[in-house]
Amino acid sequence: MNSLGTRLFAAFVSIILVVILIVGFALLVLLRDNPVIERQTYTRLNDVAGAVIRQGPLPANLTRESAAAFVQQLAAVYSVRVLIADPGGRVVVDSNPEAAAINRLNLNQARPDQGAPGALLGRARDANQRLWLYVTRPFGPNRLLVFAEQQPRFPVIAYFAENLLLPLGEAAVVAGLLSAVLAVLISRSIANPLHRMASVAQSIARGDYAQAAPTSGPDEVRALGQSLNSMARQVQAAQQAQRDFVANVSHELKTPLTSIQGFAQAMLDGAAASPDALDKSARIIFDEADRMRRMVEELLDLARLDAGAGAMTRGPVDLRLVLATVVDRFGPRAAERQVNLQADLPGNLPAMVGDADRLAQVFNNLVDNALKHTPAGGSVTLAASPAPGGVAVAVRDTGAGIPPEDVNRIFERFYQVDKSRARSGGAGLGLAITREIVEAHGGRIDVQSVAGLGSNFRVFLPVARGDDTTVARKKSRQ
Ligand code: ADP
Repeated sequence: MNSLGTRLFAAFVSIILVVILIVGFALLVLLRDNPVIERQTYTRLNDVAGAVIRQGPLPANLTRESAAAFVQQLAAVYSVRVLIADPGGRVVVDSNPEAAAINRLNLNQARPDQGAPGALLGRARDANQRLWLYVTRPFGPNRLLVFAEQQPRFPVIAYFAENLLLPLGEAAVVAGLLSAVLAVLISRSIANPLHRMASVAQSIARGDYAQAAPTSGPDEVRALGQSLNSMARQVQAAQQAQRDFVANVSHELKTPLTSIQGFAQAMLDGAAASPDALDKSARIIFDEADRMRRMVEELLDLARLDAGAGAMTRGPVDLRLVLATVVDRFGPRAAERQVNLQADLPGNLPAMVGDADRLAQVFNNLVDNALKHTPAGGSVTLAASPAPGGVAVAVRDTGAGIPPEDVNRIFERFYQVDKSRARSGGAGLGLAITREIVEAHGGRIDVQSVAGLGSNFRVFLPVARGDDTTVARKKSRQ
């Protein structure tokens, strides 16, 4: 009873039954009030009246007794009730005195008969409130001869049962069969794609993404198929990202570990015995351990940003002060590398809401990278300016630039342009963290770069309104 087909069939059958009940009821009402049957009675009464008049002139000046005999004779011949009434409609003679009396004819409600001049057609009730149909003919100077017949009782139910029940039943059976076929066809068109989707979902659960859900059938089913396919792609991408992540982390940890193990081994078995060699080995071990520590710290940082909770605080931020501090911090390093570090920080930057330490981390990363990739004699510029709805900050350098094939990927986790050069630096997580923080502030970051000429990292940070919950929103989204 739960399958789509059975439900559709049940719905169709109920609709058919309701329609047939309504049609049957309407037919019954139509039959009961059928005007044709009433018209037939009037015609018959008129025929009788015509026949009586055609027999010859009606007797005049009858006594009460002869009038009674006259109407009784007519009644017997023509099998109708015959009355004589005065012009006001009061019945004065009745062919059936023993039947329930008809006292008045309600002539004012009777209508003239089109076919016979002076004749009327009407209805009257007898003493038992039964309805009689009658026609009149003028009779003598001031009398009416009246032919009456009880209003026919049409055997509605019997007629219905005999003539209409069967066709209605047949119609119901045919409609039922048709609806069974329709229910099967419709339910198949819906259920088949759904069955296939269920099997695709099971394949996805098993990790098999090769099968695609059908995107045919009714709109809703098609939309479901498309959503399922898009979900499968996302799950696949997420799994791939997770696998890549684990592979990257293992790889990045393995390299310094191998190095540490090698130099420790050399110290242990005496291969590095001289003070110089010992010193060099210890330094390498220290540097590699430091690199691992930094990477683990960055990974923890990313994990915190991903989790959202506790990664950010929210308060008023003086962005100019944040940027000036960054410039001060890197001043000595720039001087040491003979790079010209410039700042363009106007005083009219709008007030911001966000996490000052995290924003400092963004620009530390960008300036650090710029200095790393800019040779002596080059320059690095940190420039801020008000932009519609926020602040635009650019970190420009005249360094090595980024090859076009790498530009779109450098914000990915673990992505490094030059793996060999990166050995001395980070693990390709710095820009990923940077982007996370910028986006957590509702901002965006991109880069324009020309290999050999330099790069321009552009950050846009929106000015948070008083009721803005950008940071909180980012947290709760994750
Ligand atoms: P890392 O922490 O290893 O430096 P990042 O995520 O900070 O990693 O940077 C990713 C890659 O982008 C690096 O491999 C680096 O080569 C490149 N890169 C970043 N900033 C610059 C820059 N200003 N100029 C040239 N290349 C850059």
